[in-house]
Parts: sequence; C-alpha cells; structure tokens
Amino acid sequence: MATTNQLAICLRRRDHGEHDLLLWLLTPELGKITAIARGARRPRAALIAACQPGTISRCQLATRAGSSSALPVLTQAEIVWSYPAAEADFRPAAARAYLLELVDLALPDPEPQEALYAALAGSLEAVGSAADPAAVVHGFELALLRELGFELSLHGCLACDEALAEGPAVFDPAAGGLLHASHEASDLALPVSPDAVRALRRLAQPAAYEVDLSAIRLPPEIGPVIRDVLRAAIAYHLDLQPRSATLLDEALAGE
Ligand SMILES: [Zn+2]
Repeated sequence: MATTNQLAICLRRRDHGEHDLLLWLLTPELGKITAIARGARRPRAALIAACQPGTISRCQLATRAGSSSALPVLTQAEIVWSYPAAEADFRPAAARAYLLELVDLALPDPEPQEALYAALAGSLEAVGSAADPAAVVHGFELALLRELGFELSLHGCLACDEALAEGPAVFDPAAGGLLHASHEASDLALPVSPDAVRALRRLAQPAAYEVDLSAIRLPPEIGPVIRDVLRAAIAYHLDLQPRSATLLDEALAGE
C-alpha cells in the first residue's frame, strides 16, 4: 500500500455498502478526489468526525500499489477545523452548505487546486464571524470563477474600453463582465448601479482594496444585485445551479 498525507476539506459523503462511506474531498495538491472510509458507519467509528461535510482534516490515504482504479482508503484523520458545535445563527451553516455544493459541482477533475482550497477553507471559517455572510459567499464565488478561468471583467467597459464612471451599466454574463448600458448586450444582462460595481470590485480583490470580507456589510439595495450577477455568471460559465442556493437565500432573508 502506498500512503499519502493530505489536508482535505470534506465536500460531500454518501453511504457505501453496509458500513462504509464514500467521501468527496478537496485537497490542495490533488484537487477534488473520491476516497472510501471503511467502517466509518459502525458505532463509535474513529473516522466519523472527519467524514462530516465542511470538516477540514489532515488525512492519511492509502492506495493499493499497482491498482490505478481502486479508490484511496482513508486510514487516519486528524481534525484541523470543524463547524462550531452550536451556532445560534443559521446563516453560516446555510452559507457553508452552499459553498461546499458549489465546489463539489464545479470541480469534475482531480487537478491541483491550492488557491481554491485556501479560499474555501478560509471562507468556511470566516462565515461564522462575518458581519454579512453574503459578502464572504460572494468573495468566494468570484475567486471560484477566477480560479476556473472565468475571471469577471469589472473595470472598463468591455464594448468600448472606456471607464464606466457613474453612468448606467449592465453586467452581461455572456460577455464576461460590465458594459455601458448604451451598448447592445445579451438577454442575460442585468442592470448594475455604480455602487454595486464598486462593491463587486472590492469583493473580487479584497487584498488590493485592503478590505476584510468578513467585515463588509452589503447594503440592502446592493446585496441582491450582486447575488443575481454572480448566480448568472456561475450559471453561464460553469453551468451550475446549486440546489442549496434556495436555502441560503431564505436564511439570509430571515435575518
Ligand atoms: Zn462602453
């Protein structure tokens, strides 16, 4: 047996056979992988805590030498971070479920994902103490699009290259970013205010603007616009409509 040690975020799990669990894990070096946790559903199984979606663990994975088709087996796991046991606020849990589903759906192939791993691990933790969990979620959505090769154009107008200034603008997912509202755009284009444009830029590049995503609070007239823009971009570029988005919207609206 060949063994490897990997930091891993559990994205999803499924019952397998009588006592086992199949796990979908995001690791920095290997990207998204599937592993099997043998006996994890037996009473008092040692590995069960590491098999909760959202938990980050240092995992030992064993692969049978010479067998390229067999799934790696989770043999040991040391928890690095897990959900706080009891959160009175339902929003962080809804936000985490959405982030995990988004990454699970967006990554079909096992390719290295160091930046995405770091972004997901940071976001899972940050939503717990965020002033506005939506800001952390949107920052992650922008990072996901960027890492998968669909960075949104949020500065000059994509049609004429001029600055957007304070005039009316639209976000067109088919064009990949912002345009003056005076240009022809696709049927998918959404109107965006200058304030929404400024907020999108900060969420996309928090380090460049020296802002902390967990401290940003999106005003009520901007939050839904940014949500719709990013959902449209994710649906268009990644062809994804995560089911947990509805639950997230309900949790955020019920504040
Ligand atoms: Zn223009």
